[in-house]
Amino acid sequence: MRVIVIGGGAAGFFAAIACASVSPETEVVLLEAGRQPLTKVRISGGGRCNVTHHCFDPALLVQAYPRGEKALRGAFTRFQPQNTVNWFEQRGVSLKTEADGRIFPVTDNSETIINCLLQEAQRCGVHWKTGARVEGVSYDNHQFFVKLKSGECLNSDRVLLATGSQRRPYQWLTQFGHNIIPLVPSLFTFNIQDERIENLAGITVNQAEVQLETQGKHKYRQTGDVLITHWGLSGPAILKLSAFAARILHDHGYQMGLFINWLPSHNMETVKEQLLAQKNQTPRRQIMNHSPVSIPKRLWQNLATVAGVSAAQRWAELSKKQMKILAKELVQGKFQIEGKSTFKDEFVTCGGVDLKEINFQTMESKLVPGLYFAGEILDIDGITGGFNFQNAWTTGWLAGQAMGR
Ligand SMILES: Cc1cc2nc3c(=O)[nH]c(=O)nc-3n(C[C@H](O)[C@H](O)[C@H](O)COP(=O)(O)OP(=O)(O)OC[C@H]3O[C@@H](n4cnc5c(N)ncnc54)[C@H](O)[C@@H]3O)c2cc1C
Repeated sequence: MRVIVIGGGAAGFFAAIACASVSPETEVVLLEAGRQPLTKVRISGGGRCNVTHHCFDPALLVQAYPRGEKALRGAFTRFQPQNTVNWFEQRGVSLKTEADGRIFPVTDNSETIINCLLQEAQRCGVHWKTGARVEGVSYDNHQFFVKLKSGECLNSDRVLLATGSQRRPYQWLTQFGHNIIPLVPSLFTFNIQDERIENLAGITVNQAEVQLETQGKHKYRQTGDVLITHWGLSGPAILKLSAFAARILHDHGYQMGLFINWLPSHNMETVKEQLLAQKNQTPRRQIMNHSPVSIPKRLWQNLATVAGVSAAQRWAELSKKQMKILAKELVQGKFQIEGKSTFKDEFVTCGGVDLKEINFQTMESKLVPGLYFAGEILDIDGITGGFNFQNAWTTGWLAGQAMGR
């Protein structure tokens, strides 16, 4: 039997290795268009490769996937981050978990992961070719015909598509009758020009709540650290929001209102009480230098300035109107998103092959027997933190096992 894997990224290699391991008599051929395999692994996680995430409970793990949550639930009971960790460690790669749960090779070098995958592919007898761009796939009488740009045509009994978010392969799939959910970017930062965050680049506000202004019932809301940048806002809360709201943000041309509560344990009433208490307790102190709330001092000063507080103004002089504006800025500040920027450490595409048309026991197409999928080509994407590679490992492993059987 011959299996052709199209795409030499994380999902393609993992699937090819799984297939060749479970079925040594199967000829596994992997075709990669680029001159190098595993290029995204190389640049991933700022060159360190965030392999997976320290979350070993499938029910919790799926919550990190804005798309794919339901379909991955069962898949993760079969291959999940604990299996990923074991897989790499059994092959000599030591991994470490950082405080936020992200797992990296101890070398802090993505080459460690690449070398492991290439060595394992070689050991299992996977034949991989680089510079082998596939131009089309057709199917006739239980055989697949894979046409390369070079003019060569290879036949096989099974084909795995692991081409990531490249557009061309989706055209072949529509010819097979597959539905493709439109592709839009996920995991990005927000462009915001606003005096309240001006000159604060580099400051992180711990555990703020961010919420998109929407008319609909769905509330796009996230809590986490927010990083102020030269061009707007980033950090875990913003990246999560960009992932869960990827489609609505796209549909609005990345122009939407954003509410920020810099103090999520407070609301308008409680924060006003706190400001009033400060006014009563320290009337002679300067407002700018004596904040009663735990946000970075320079942010406090910017918010107070917007509320009309002057540099030398004392707490006793804080007017009712100023107090109201300040309270609102602290817990309900409204900002305007005016575009997006790439988060360089990780980005993915939302959309892809419709999950309804795939058997998640095997990753086989329900429409074309013998056609399999793994990785980002699917309508699955995760938040930042190693979840996107975990999708590649899990779906690649399931597909590889099934193809080899
Ligand atoms: C800068 C960056 C950093 C990232 N960092 C992380 C991280 O640290 N942790 C994490 O979990 N996720 C990270 N991600 C996301 C992660 O890289 C992807 O989710 C993952 O690589 C998807 O794997 P894949 O194998 O499905 O697709 P890809 O890695 O995109 O691989 C697809 C392969 O198919 C090949 N191909 C496409 N079309 C053809 C064709 N016609 N013929 C032959 N070959 C073809 C492509 O050349 C490519 O090599 C990062 C993404 C980026 C862009």
